[in-house]
Amino acid sequence: MEAKKKDIRALTKKQLRDFFVKQGDKAFRGNQVYEWLWQKSAHSFEDMTNVSLETRQMLEDNFVINHIKVDQMQRSSDGTIKNAVRLHDDLVVESVLIPTATRTTACVSSQVGCSLDCRFCATSRLKRMRNLNPDEIYDQVVAIDNESRLYHNRPLSNIVFMGMGEPLMNYNNVLKAIDKITSPEGLGMSPKRIVVSTSGVPKMIKKMADDKVKFKLAVSLHSAIDEIRTSIMPFNATFPLSDLREALQYWYAATKNRITYEYVVWDAINDKRKDAEALVEFCKFAPSKVNLIEYNPIDDGEFQQAHSKAIDMYVSVLEANNITVTVRRSRGKDIDAACGQLANKS
Ligand code: SAH
Repeated sequence: MEAKKKDIRALTKKQLRDFFVKQGDKAFRGNQVYEWLWQKSAHSFEDMTNVSLETRQMLEDNFVINHIKVDQMQRSSDGTIKNAVRLHDDLVVESVLIPTATRTTACVSSQVGCSLDCRFCATSRLKRMRNLNPDEIYDQVVAIDNESRLYHNRPLSNIVFMGMGEPLMNYNNVLKAIDKITSPEGLGMSPKRIVVSTSGVPKMIKKMADDKVKFKLAVSLHSAIDEIRTSIMPFNATFPLSDLREALQYWYAATKNRITYEYVVWDAINDKRKDAEALVEFCKFAPSKVNLIEYNPIDDGEFQQAHSKAIDMYVSVLEANNITVTVRRSRGKDIDAACGQLANKS
């Protein structure tokens, strides 16, 4: 019986309105319920107090609301919060709230596990189990927004798709979630405050450009030399840098949005001048900026953060070529909430 019920949040507003008309009710009832589902983030039909008891029962008989449950919330000494989020089928993903002086950012997951096998990332060890639905992505954002208001006295200001998974391999659902997040019927956030981070799937980057998306793009580059990039991100063998570069040029031509490159410098892997120079060359293809991110150890020591001298070398080579560069410190390390550490450990 239960298994036959449909996920009500898989319906569009129009489908919901049509459903009510078919039931002999008014289309307007669909608007009311839609508002409960998205803007008010109702967890159950019982919450829908301006809908008659009879209608609520009818909804209960036909549909389910697959709301996420925050199973466990951990708070770091630096204010970072990590949520372990349980899905309706008992799988778990993680999302993170990162507060700074000027913003509070939600880092959300797009898949359970990940199909890519970046060798420095803890999530890659989980394998991909399934894509998240739009409502599961949306719920993560709502949960973080509530925590931001509760613990930091301010609403969420930014969202990054840098949690578990490769967002461009769950493109349709990520787009639907962003539509809800940015819509006045959802959270009404500006798409300019949303960053989708990808390991670089060329075909999908072009699709994003064709779809004229308004959010920002970040690419986890880590090396601008094919051989090195393939050794740390094996899928680079399938999507080499030349394809990525072409897709990024296409993206920039269509959107005029500059690209952010996420880049970790590791000892003895990509810490030489030739690595920084290759990065400079790569950055010349489309306006971009570079975020040098600190490595968060996840393993037995195969990867080591580069010495600060190497980071300084990168900064000076990039700056000498007029490329904007920032060095980003990690947050939430004590609770395994930093980039690449999300692996459902606790
Ligand atoms: N799949 C997407 C989003 C998830 S990863 C992507 O690749 O962009 C989010 C960011 O964390 C990426 O830039 C990734 O390269 C980086 N990252 C992964 N493991 C890390 C680690 N151990 N230390 C620091 N950054 C890491």
